[in-house]
Amino acid sequence: MELAVQQVLNWLEKTNEKIQRNKEYLTSLDQAIGDGDHGINMSRGFQEVMSKTSATSYNSVSDLLKDVAMTLLSKVGGASGPLYGTAFLKMSMAVKGKEPIDKPALEDAFEEALNGILQRGKAQLGDKTLVDVWTPVVNFLKEHTGIEGPQLEEVAKNAMESTKEVMAKKGRAAYLKERSIGQLDPGSVSSYYLFASLAEVLEEGE
Ligand code: ADP
Ligand code: MG
Repeated sequence: MELAVQQVLNWLEKTNEKIQRNKEYLTSLDQAIGDGDHGINMSRGFQEVMSKTSATSYNSVSDLLKDVAMTLLSKVGGASGPLYGTAFLKMSMAVKGKEPIDKPALEDAFEEALNGILQRGKAQLGDKTLVDVWTPVVNFLKEHTGIEGPQLEEVAKNAMESTKEVMAKKGRAAYLKERSIGQLDPGSVSSYYLFASLAEVLEEGE
């Protein structure tokens, strides 16, 4: 398993497709327990990411991920822009000089990204945020030497679904307390798209 610039571009493109296709769905999830802008935030952010990265030629994955981070940090408002922006920035730093990215480097990159998200957002596992998807995915990556795309997708999907029955303790949904139970966390759904897309790219690369 190795990821070079082209595979990372494919990952971003697949993520973008899912986000654009599910923009209304993400919005409706955020309408239920937030302020209804998650679909708009993610759609605009990834549109900007696609226009930036398709107009630039990259020699390194690190530079590419840094542009993704800067775009998300500068163009996306709300909680999700800074959180995803931080995640991509940490990944960019983690893979610097370790390209193409092999399994240990990928593992490190996602672990650093999760640490960045935790530092920035101060959420814990079980608070009904995207941390609830990132944590089991990072654990899965660390526990498996070879990564099977379908398995990765399943881990991310189960984690996303697990956010439904818990009460929100961080983010806007936390204001609803018990009323947040029974709804999926919007940021966990967008994070699922990110990891489902990664799973597809890893499968294609085999
Ligand atoms: P906002 O909440 O500012 O309207 P978005 O709607 O774009 O921003 O994003 C909401 C998502 O951000 C939530 O569904 C949750 O997954 C994530 N989120 C919110 N606050 C935090 C936090 N403190 N730590 C981690 N993730 C968070
Ligand atoms: Mg919102």
